[in-house]
Amino acid sequence: MYDFAVVGLGAIGSATAAELVRRGYSVLGLDRYRPPHTLGSAHSDTRMIREAWYEGSLYMPLVQEAYRRWARLEVSSGRTLVRTTGGLMMGPRDGRVFAGRPLAEVVRDDSDCISLSAEDVADRFPWLRPDPGTITIYEPRAGVLGLEACLEASRDAAADADLHFDEPVAEWSASASGVRIRTDRREYRARRLAIAAGAWTPQLLPGLGLPLEVERTVQYWFEPGGVHADALAAGPAWVWELERGGTWYGFRPTARGLKSGMHFQAGRRTDIDRVDRAVGASETAALRRILERYAPDAAGSLAHASVCLYTNTPDEGFILDRHPEHPDVVLFAGGSGHAFKFMLVLGALMADLLTGKPPRHDLSPFSIGRFRGPMRLAGRESTGR
Ligand SMILES: Cc1cc2nc3c(=O)[nH]c(=O)nc-3n(C[C@H](O)[C@H](O)[C@H](O)COP(=O)(O)OP(=O)(O)OC[C@H]3O[C@@H](n4cnc5c(N)ncnc54)[C@H](O)[C@@H]3O)c2cc1C
Repeated sequence: MYDFAVVGLGAIGSATAAELVRRGYSVLGLDRYRPPHTLGSAHSDTRMIREAWYEGSLYMPLVQEAYRRWARLEVSSGRTLVRTTGGLMMGPRDGRVFAGRPLAEVVRDDSDCISLSAEDVADRFPWLRPDPGTITIYEPRAGVLGLEACLEASRDAAADADLHFDEPVAEWSASASGVRIRTDRREYRARRLAIAAGAWTPQLLPGLGLPLEVERTVQYWFEPGGVHADALAAGPAWVWELERGGTWYGFRPTARGLKSGMHFQAGRRTDIDRVDRAVGASETAALRRILERYAPDAAGSLAHASVCLYTNTPDEGFILDRHPEHPDVVLFAGGSGHAFKFMLVLGALMADLLTGKPPRHDLSPFSIGRFRGPMRLAGRESTGR
């Protein structure tokens, strides 16, 4: 019997397994594919790491710890994981980008972050064309995580676990004597179980009725050109709430090109078993119109496009909690498009819950209970599928 089993070895699951191994436990890890793969939420080149501009102050200590943990993993893995590029947070003063950190406080208290007018932005980052009145905060600490390198480093840190790839978990059950996990190959036993199955979570926890929505989103890579191409290549990442048309992001180019896409698009709900993986010409054209309007030098030819999945909760906050009926089962779900940067912290918090160590951060904002009245938990199924 293993001490712990971890189902899902993507971002959060691999970090959970690595942390449990580091603490000296025997760990079984199972994934239905072989991360980094392109079917879930963690693939394709880059993820942004930045302060919690829209998520709220509760995420700020998590970001600080995330930076420390990424730095440690860089040293222990010998890989470059984080590139500090700076980041621009842009949008209307009362928009969603600035909902989590009151601007007046940032300008007063955070001597690193700089407030820029639309004219300042055009001067300093001449490939960008903000509308007059657009508020911009430049965050010099912000950067870019090399996604595949991060996942590989995390998986390598878990190498002393018994890791099984291409082995989907079909069902699990929990009792006083531990947990049983059944795959198409065999049955395993462990004392406790972590579930970090990303967009597949509802399949493994059908009885819980978690309010999770899987959202289809597209990442595009363009070949930038134009007179400002060199400045763009050395420029910051951006998250920009447009007056019309949602929140748009972009990264300085990598070998694949300049990555850009939309963050949260209402109405793109999908079913994990029926995700449309093809990228349509009209959706590419819609993003290209935004690039042409706001960053024309970035609007070169399309190099590549790829579908990726968000798993959203109603409040866009994470779920990290014990199973309400099975205290030996701990789950992470609802990454809501912003969990990657925190993955090492979230893995450590999962390990805290699994090993009975008091969690280093307040987990009440991530509780399952915030979506459910206590009465509704009664009489739920006692096994997962
Ligand atoms: C386009 C896009 C851009 C993003 N940008 C950012 C960003 O800039 N910054 C940021 O912090 N975050 C960002 N995110 C969010 C971040 O990538 C996700 O929140 C994070 O990857 C979620 O991790 P996860 O471990 O929950 O899911 P995943 O990494 O998808 O891992 C889940 C794993 O579970 C496995 N699994 C599922 N079912 C089973 C089963 N039955 N048996 C065994 N294994 C199973 C899957 O194969 C998968 O490997 C972005 C997401 C997308 C899609």
